[in-house]
Amino acid sequence: MFRIGIDVGGTGIQAGVIDDSFRILAEESIPTRTSDPFADQVARIAGCVKSVAAKAGLTMEQIVSIGIGIPGIANAATGEIIKCTNMGWYHVPFRNEFMKHTSIPVFIDNDANVAALAESVAGVSADSSSSVFVTIGTGIGSGIILNGRIWSGFHGIGGELGHVIFDLDGVPCTCGNKGCLERYCSATALIRMAREAISLHPETLMMKMISGDVSRLEARTVIDAARQSDPLASEVYAQYIDQLAQAFANIVNFLDPEVIVIGGGVSKAGNFLLDPLRREFPKYVIYNDQPMPEIKLAILGSEAGIIGAAMLS
Ligand SMILES: [Zn+2]
Repeated sequence: MFRIGIDVGGTGIQAGVIDDSFRILAEESIPTRTSDPFADQVARIAGCVKSVAAKAGLTMEQIVSIGIGIPGIANAATGEIIKCTNMGWYHVPFRNEFMKHTSIPVFIDNDANVAALAESVAGVSADSSSSVFVTIGTGIGSGIILNGRIWSGFHGIGGELGHVIFDLDGVPCTCGNKGCLERYCSATALIRMAREAISLHPETLMMKMISGDVSRLEARTVIDAARQSDPLASEVYAQYIDQLAQAFANIVNFLDPEVIVIGGGVSKAGNFLLDPLRREFPKYVIYNDQPMPEIKLAILGSEAGIIGAAMLS
C-alpha cells in the first residue's frame, strides 16, 4: 500500500510517497505562498500530491490515504484547521476544500504529533505502546502517542507541553500566559539564561566564541562552551538541564509513558544532553523507586514530517 504525507511549513511544503516499509519513494516540494487565497493554496498542495504520485510511478488509485502535518492545531475529526499562524489559517475547512480535488481519505494533525507518530511507527520509539515526543527548538513542541495513536485531546488542543505553567507568574510567554515551560526549556530559554549570566560575568569563553557580540549567541554556543568546561557555560547548562529534568519528570508523573523521545535543534547535543538528563530527571519523579521511562533521541529527522503525516489514519 502507498500513502502520501505532506509536511506544511511556513517557507515550504513537502509531499512524499511512502510504502509499507515507511520508505520514501518520491518527494516533491513547493514554496509556501501565504498571500494566495486559501482555495488556491489548497489547490497547489493537491497539485503537488498528484505530481509526487506520478514521480513515484503511481496512479492516484494506488494511494490509500493522504495525511497532512501543520504547524498549528486541527480538529482531526472534522478536518478543520483551527489555528495555523505561519500559514495565516484560522478556522478553515481544510479537508472539505482538499476533497474537492481528490476522493482519497485525508487526515490532518499538528506537526509535533505527526513527528511523534513517525518515531513511534518507524523510528526510535517503534514497538512501544506509549511515547511522548518532545521537540526542543525555538519553542517546545510535543506529541503524545497512546496505544499506537496520537492523543491530542478531545477537542484537538491538548498535548501542549510547552505551555504547561512551570513557574507561577514567571517569564512572559508568546501565548499570553506567564511562566510557561518553554520559557525555561527551549533553545530560546538557554540563550536567555546565558545572556543574563554573561552580563554579570563577561569573562567567559562564550564571549570569545561570539567575538563579544551577544546577539550572535546561540544555544550551540552555550553547549559547546560547556563541553569545553567553561565555568559560566557549565553553570548555565547545568541549570538548564535541571529545568529540563523537572519538565521530563512532569511528563512521567502525569503520563508515565514507555519512552520519551527528544527531537529539535537542542537534541543535536546528543549524549551531552541525554546523559545528564537521564541522571537528573528521576530525582523529581515521585515513584522513582519504580522503573523509569527510557529517554531517547529522535532518529528520523526531517523525514518524520512526511512519514508521520502519511501514517495518519
Ligand atoms: Zn505559553
